[in-house]
Amino acid sequence: MASENSTGNEPENGGPPLGLDLAQQVALQIELLRMAGVRFLPGDPAKLAGGPPVAQRKTQAVPNPKIPETAPGAFGSLADRVRLQQPAPPAPVNQPPVSLPKPQLVPPARPVAPAPVIEKPAKLPTSSPSPAGLFGLEQVGTPADGLEELDASTRLERLEILRAQVAACKRCPALVAERTQTVFGVGPIDAELCVVGEAPGHNEDKLGEPFVGEAGQLLNKMLAACGIERSKVFICNILRCRPPANRQPQADEAASCNPFLVETLRLVRPKFLCLMGATATRYLLDQPTGIGVLRKRDLAWCGIPVQATYHPAYLLRYPDKKRDAWEDLQRMLTRMGRTPPAHS
Ligand code: SF4
Repeated sequence: MASENSTGNEPENGGPPLGLDLAQQVALQIELLRMAGVRFLPGDPAKLAGGPPVAQRKTQAVPNPKIPETAPGAFGSLADRVRLQQPAPPAPVNQPPVSLPKPQLVPPARPVAPAPVIEKPAKLPTSSPSPAGLFGLEQVGTPADGLEELDASTRLERLEILRAQVAACKRCPALVAERTQTVFGVGPIDAELCVVGEAPGHNEDKLGEPFVGEAGQLLNKMLAACGIERSKVFICNILRCRPPANRQPQADEAASCNPFLVETLRLVRPKFLCLMGATATRYLLDQPTGIGVLRKRDLAWCGIPVQATYHPAYLLRYPDKKRDAWEDLQRMLTRMGRTPPAHS
């Protein structure tokens, strides 16, 4: 029997109403399913075609195209699979190369200027006087270089360094074996006059100062006669060590020691040089001519005027030569711009 609300077309087993076309039947079934709680994605053709509900399809494993289709379990653990399913690292983006900062060339720390150590004294001037200067100014050596720019205190420091080098010198074994000490020289820096003798004698070797024996006392008298205090004069010798038995210096000894003399003169920078004895003129001026001839010439060494005269020790042996020596000193004073005394 049909109910009051019945259309009269429903089948008794709950199927689609009879008399509906296929589309109407599908729409009716979808509506019934929605009423039963099943949710459909709009336009899901699979659902419309009677496929499994979306809720079921979501739980199905989606094959990863990156994983090769091999036997089940070929990838081991789940961690392996996760690792294999990791997204590929992004492709490198073409960016302009980053310019690395150029390495900075750090200059080495500027070495602290060492104390002026004179490793080698200056070379000996070896040039000979010009023959054309026989009766004129005979220039020997070369002008001093660089030292004129040093102040007196700096030159005095270097002179002390040179003095220490001389004290340690052992270039002449025969002299080193006999010497008591070296005799460097004595006098102020910037002395107007520098006296150069031959070599230390017995007293000089003992006291360490040149011209302190009998010859030194005569020198003091000669300087006093010129109105010059000894303390204002720089006094030194060709050699800084006493030759055994007061013999004359040998050529090799003079050559070894002359650099010390040259450096001393370059540092003291006297205005005038008085060379006493043939040994001094021979080894400083490189001049073999005897003192009897040279004393009458206007000589110069490295731009410094030179007066040659007899050594006081020679004058002690030959007192008659004292008059010639006095004439030499008068010439020297004149060349120094001083007025020579009338009598010695
Ligand atoms: S004479 Fe001069 S060079 Fe010879 S050992 Fe003495 S200081 Fe040195």
